[in-house]
Amino acid sequence: MTTLNKIWVLAEKQGALAELCAGGRELGQEVSAVVIGSKVEADKAIAMGADKVYWLGALKADQMLEDYTKTILALLKQEEPNLLLVQPSRRGKLLAGRLAAGLGTSVIVDAAGIEIADDGKVQAAHMVYGGAAFRTEKALSETAIVTVGSGTFTALAEDGSRQGVVIEADFVEPATKVKVLEKKIKAGTSVNLAAAKKVIGIGRGFSNKEDIKMAEELACLLDAELGCSRPLAEGVDWLPRERYIGVSGVVLKSDVYLAIGISGQVQHMVGVNQARVVISINKDKTAPIFQQSDYGVVGDLYKVVPALIEKIKAVKQ
Ligand SMILES: Cc1cc2nc3c(=O)[nH]c(=O)nc-3n(C[C@H](O)[C@H](O)[C@H](O)COP(=O)(O)OP(=O)(O)OC[C@H]3O[C@@H](n4cnc5c(N)ncnc54)[C@H](O)[C@@H]3O)c2cc1C
Repeated sequence: MTTLNKIWVLAEKQGALAELCAGGRELGQEVSAVVIGSKVEADKAIAMGADKVYWLGALKADQMLEDYTKTILALLKQEEPNLLLVQPSRRGKLLAGRLAAGLGTSVIVDAAGIEIADDGKVQAAHMVYGGAAFRTEKALSETAIVTVGSGTFTALAEDGSRQGVVIEADFVEPATKVKVLEKKIKAGTSVNLAAAKKVIGIGRGFSNKEDIKMAEELACLLDAELGCSRPLAEGVDWLPRERYIGVSGVVLKSDVYLAIGISGQVQHMVGVNQARVVISINKDKTAPIFQQSDYGVVGDLYKVVPALIEKIKAVKQ
C-alpha cells in the first residue's frame, strides 16, 4: 500500500489521540502529535505511537481550543504534513474547519476509512444519506485534513520504551478571540463504547429515566457497557452523548450487542453492523431491528428484562 511521509494527529482526549496515532502509523512513515496539555500527556503521545510531538502547553483557564488555530496553522505551513487527522469533538471540528480555511482547503468529515491513492493523495470514505451510502472523497490539497471518529482505528498498546522528540512550540496570539467568562465541569463519563466487548443499548422503549436502573443492573451482571439510541442522549438527555450509538455517534465493534426497546432505524444500525452478535428485545414483532438481529425476543421489556435479571442472578448464585 502507498503510504504518506508525514502524518499529524490532533485530539482533545487521550483515548482518541491513541487511536489517531495508530491510524497515523498505518498510513504513514512519521507520525507527529499536536498536544495541547501537560508535558506528561506530550510524553505519553510518543508511547502511543507518535515519533514527534509538537507540545503547545496546557490550555489556560481563559483559552479555547480554537485559540490555537494560528499557532497550529503556522506549524502546518512550516512542516507541510501530508495529512492531519483530527478527533471530531465539537471544538476539534471547529479547529479543523479553521485550519482548513487557513490552508485554503476543506475538511473531509467523519471518515470511516482512509487510503492513499496511487498519486499519493488522501482518499477518505464517509457515510452519507443518514448512513444509507458511503461517499469517497479525495483531497487535492498538499495537506489533507480529515476528522476521524472513535473506532475507525484501534489504539496500539502503549509502549513506554518508544523514542521520540518533543518540540515546544510558541503560542501565536490570535488576532481576535472568544472571551471565556466561566467554565463549568460537565459530569461526563470516560466510557469508550467503541472498545467495549459487550454493549447493551437502550431506546425509546424505556418510558422513564428511572427505568434505566434496570438496564444498568443487567449491564452490571453481564459485565457490559451501557449505550443508547440518539433520542435518549440528545432528546431527553438521560444518558451522556458519548453513549449513543450510530451514524452520528459511536460505531461498535463489540462481540455482543443487546438492543432493548430500540426500533432499529438505519442511523442507529450503522453503529451496530460491526458487532458480531446482535440480540434484540422489542414488543413489536415488525420492528426493523429484528431483520438485523441474530436473536430476537418479542416481548415487553418491562417483563423480559426483570426476568432476565432474575435468571442471570440465579445462574450466578
Ligand atoms: C441525520 C440523523 C442522524 C441520526 N443519527 C442517529 C444515530 O447516530 N443514532 C441513533 O440511534 N439515532 C440516530 N438518528 C435517529 C434515528 O433516525 C431514530 O429516530 C432513532 O434511532 C430511534 O431511536 P429508538 O429506536 O430508541 O426509538 P423509536 O424508533 O421510537 O423505537 C422505540 C422502539 O421501542 C419499542 N418499544 C416501545 N415500548 C416497548 C416495551 N415496553 N418493550 C419493548 N419494546 C418497546 C417500540 O416497538 C419501538 O420499536 C438520526 C436521525 C437523523 C435524521
